[in-house]
Amino acid sequence: MAVATAGYAQSYDPVLLKKTNALLAKMTLEEKIGQLNQYSGKDVTGPVNAQNKTQKEDIRNGLVGSMLNVKGVKDTREIQELALQSRLKIPLLFSLDVIHGYKTVFPIPLAETASWDTELMEQSAHIAAKEAAASGIHWTFAPMVDIAKDPRWGRVMEGAGEDTYLGVLAAKARVKGFQGAKLGGTDAVMACAKHFAAYGAAIAGRDYNAVDMSLHQLWQDYLPPFKAAVDAGAATFMNSFNTLNGIPATGNKYLQRDILKGQWKFSGFVVSDWGSIGEMVNHGFANNDTIAALKAITAGSDMDMESKAYLAGLASLVKNGKVNIALVDDAVRRILYKKFELGLFDDPFRFCNEAREQQVMNDASHVAIALKAAERSIVLLKNNQVLPLSSGTKTIAVIGPLAQSRRDMAGSWTVNPVDTNLIVTLYQGLKNNAAGATVLTANGCVVNGGDKNGFEEALSVAAKADVVVMAIGETWDMSGEAKSRSDIRMPGLQQQLLAAVKATGKPLVAVVMAGRPLVMDTVVAQADAVVYAWWLGNEAGNAIANVLLGKYNPSGKLPMTFPRNVGQIPVTYKQQNTGRPVTNENNVVYRSAYIDVTNRPAFAFGYGLSYTTFSYSGLQVSKPAFSGNDSVVVSFTLTNTGKYAGEEVAQLYIRDKVSDIVRPVKELTGFKKLMLQPGAQQTIRFTINKEKLAYYNSDLKKITEAGDFEVMIGGSSDNTPLKTTIRFQ
Ligand code: BGC
Repeated sequence: MAVATAGYAQSYDPVLLKKTNALLAKMTLEEKIGQLNQYSGKDVTGPVNAQNKTQKEDIRNGLVGSMLNVKGVKDTREIQELALQSRLKIPLLFSLDVIHGYKTVFPIPLAETASWDTELMEQSAHIAAKEAAASGIHWTFAPMVDIAKDPRWGRVMEGAGEDTYLGVLAAKARVKGFQGAKLGGTDAVMACAKHFAAYGAAIAGRDYNAVDMSLHQLWQDYLPPFKAAVDAGAATFMNSFNTLNGIPATGNKYLQRDILKGQWKFSGFVVSDWGSIGEMVNHGFANNDTIAALKAITAGSDMDMESKAYLAGLASLVKNGKVNIALVDDAVRRILYKKFELGLFDDPFRFCNEAREQQVMNDASHVAIALKAAERSIVLLKNNQVLPLSSGTKTIAVIGPLAQSRRDMAGSWTVNPVDTNLIVTLYQGLKNNAAGATVLTANGCVVNGGDKNGFEEALSVAAKADVVVMAIGETWDMSGEAKSRSDIRMPGLQQQLLAAVKATGKPLVAVVMAGRPLVMDTVVAQADAVVYAWWLGNEAGNAIANVLLGKYNPSGKLPMTFPRNVGQIPVTYKQQNTGRPVTNENNVVYRSAYIDVTNRPAFAFGYGLSYTTFSYSGLQVSKPAFSGNDSVVVSFTLTNTGKYAGEEVAQLYIRDKVSDIVRPVKELTGFKKLMLQPGAQQTIRFTINKEKLAYYNSDLKKITEAGDFEVMIGGSSDNTPLKTTIRFQ
């Protein structure tokens, strides 16, 4: 059986590899299998019970390679000391889901992607890594780089949204941010690109569900962010719960050995998802845990998270010749190498001590970046001249179940327990920032419930105000893992509360906080302005207040399409034409249509308003045609035509007009975010080379075909005023 060792020569440091191999040579089969075993140990440091007693014994006996869910200098030290009592004293790897911050909670990744600011993504990941590393963590299970086009899937909150080009850049930035300049550094943790692969394409948006897609789509849309993670040096990968075209990802040799470790020369290791090796029995892909272990190790899953199938089954599989020891050695080598690279054999506690932990956690510069990230994540969806609030506003009412909520601002996938004292609510944020104004508040109702008793108080508060800000959306636990929803309209009575407030005739601003795109038809119709604030983390209240008050001019653009109704899903900007022209709202389009709703979404990918306006003009192309390694420069002028200084994300889309495989009508292939003062203009240039025009053909080869390509430039996928055609020959 071929073992994918191709990557070693290119990416392994010979000195560290030598040390790794020397250690490997000393290990018994049981000790090797131990390195492949990962336990979750939230309570491992607590009072002794049957489970943590076994875990502790296994650690002392060298039967555990890594722990997840143990954190903090004190606890990780206590457990690491047990590992150092084992025969070979191999240190444990401590891992945790550090998804959007450790102590400092940043916006959820989907929100932060709305900033289209990759430097910021790198910075926030780096701060999260710094805090986690100071707290004894070596490894985060992030970034999630799954492309996700279905907002019913609760885990859209963890990723970069629907678009592959943006997803590639976000993946790179986040991997670099977590890992820092060098894995051995004090402020670095290993990144983990997950979930390999196509987990975001679960049928009907139901978490863990099967995935069935063409290999073309897999390569074209879903794999590139993973490849980008490898290229950025991601130390680890996590496989996924789903089947892909009938084969569980965890037992999928094509994905893990052929593509990841073979073709991409990934030199790190693959951890299974939680229990996913054992779950192959439930899938009906293995008769029992031992067969599941056989299939997983054969397919290239290196570390077993929590299913214990490797611990129970691998030794006999090796002894009876079903598994070649070379497979086990390869997996162990990959894991040990990372332990050497992290410097764990030199210092198993990685510079950690309580004093540094305290100091890093209390670094005030982290809060400033959290505010910046939160401001830049906000997307202004509608504004009928009501925002920014005029400086003369005397009384602001903040009404709704999320007005004074702390925990919900942090969202899901936080490092628990969340320190809610650090979270600024919207009510508090307005009080902090609206100097001279009186800020009133009332909940009105809960997010999910049918009790109207609070309406009366809410309406009397609204009656006293010059403007009403509604704080509505999802509670923190309504999006995330296993949080698929079939109805993604505004939950509970919130819409009714908004309608009742609307009837008071007061100017009405809806601030929507959620972990996913919501269907908001009536909210959008009734509110004078709609601010999409996702879950923004610790600085949520200050960031939203700054936007409402015009202290920060919103610049976010949607990383996912917002549907008009659930029946439109999946709806993305990247559609193909059908052969059938239909007339739809005065436009001829060549795709299938509904009789009861337009094809257009509520808000398109790339959409987002500002308090100022921008114009796109003066499109020029350096040459109409190019070939080979040559390129074309497309330039245009962006002008701030409004009254406020503001940032715009200028977006470049292309369309391959005729191709071997039918291509989408539009694909993002470049963007630039820049700040312009009122009246100022700047020339922007995009270079288009053959790589930008390439796609995977029916043989899954990346090619650029000769022919015409339409170039479209504008501020949103559905608003590209500049258009031209170039030719590759
Ligand atoms: C999730 C992973 C996560 C793991 C460990 C699983 O249920 O799918 O994304 O990293 O748990 O918490």
